[in-house]
Amino acid sequence: ATMPPLLSAIANAGRHGVLVKSAVAMERLGEIDLAALDKTGTLTEGAPEVTGVRPLPDSGLDEDALLGLAAAAELPSEHPLARAIVTAARARGLRIARAEDFTAVPGRGVTATVEGRSVGVGRAETVHSDATVDGWSAGVGRAETTHSDATAGPAEAADSDATAGRADAADSDATVVHVTRDGVPVGALALTDRLRPAAPATTADLTALTGTAPVLLTGDNARAAVRVAEATGLTDVRAELLPEDKVNAVRELQDAGRKVLFVGDGVNDAPALAAAHSGVAMGRAGSDLALETADAVVVRDELTAVPAVVRLSRTARRLVV
Ligand code: ADP
Ligand code: MG
Repeated sequence: ATMPPLLSAIANAGRHGVLVKSAVAMERLGEIDLAALDKTGTLTEGAPEVTGVRPLPDSGLDEDALLGLAAAAELPSEHPLARAIVTAARARGLRIARAEDFTAVPGRGVTATVEGRSVGVGRAETVHSDATVDGWSAGVGRAETTHSDATAGPAEAADSDATAGRADAADSDATVVHVTRDGVPVGALALTDRLRPAAPATTADLTALTGTAPVLLTGDNARAAVRVAEATGLTDVRAELLPEDKVNAVRELQDAGRKVLFVGDGVNDAPALAAAHSGVAMGRAGSDLALETADAVVVRDELTAVPAVVRLSRTARRLVV
């Protein structure tokens, strides 16, 4: 017997290094008419490097102490930023203390107890203006309860502390993460990630396939987002998004009648992957949750495989009668 078109398409997708989870998933890929893309780990390599370490003068920490402290809190995290911080600390030969009570908050950062003190590493508005006893947890709670707070712009977040402003200015389009100890800001780290070489061609291909340039949805700061958007020809850029903001953006586009293909890699992307008409996860550095939630997984880590499988699906659907 000849193989049904959608099953042959799944086999072909496999040759492109994409694991499509079902015939229905294969079919839906070809129905999409708009792509929404995550930035970090999707359009970029997802292998950032620490490019700046800035302890606050009052913190009593030098660069190594700040980096070591952040690395200790980040050691259990699977986030690309966490891995970069740990790698940078190891490259400097720093001792990384074993953390306790580790908690990761998707799209925001991490908290842990390091040598008896509570350490937070993450977004400015999450760790800032919380110079209270249990600062970090209070920050998380506040951001969750007041939505406007969670979507506060980078300027607003940076204004609340001089260090943030300096780190942002010095590293213009870098990702800046803030470090607190016992709720008090002690410094910031700047990280930069390289664009995937295939990113501009892939966004152009997705634009050709859908007739609309993809939308960029990222949890990172606006400047880092704009840098990537400019390099990939995208104009609809939404930055500083929390995981729930990414889902809302996808839902909003779908409520407006679009069938959205969402491509992402992180735990923070899982809700958007689930909400989208079709969700594709980048597999190499992808979090387990993203891989489980997605309709398809790009196992070979080639971004060009995404438009390729959309084409395979369209061809297969024409053959299904
Ligand atoms: P993206 O949408 O670009 O993939 P995320 O949603 O994973 O990014 O993260 C958004 C922001 O939250 C990061 O730019 C960073 O400021 C902060 N963040 C998330 N996880 C961590 C972490 N493990 N350590 C430090 N900061 C983090
Ligand atoms: Mg990501």
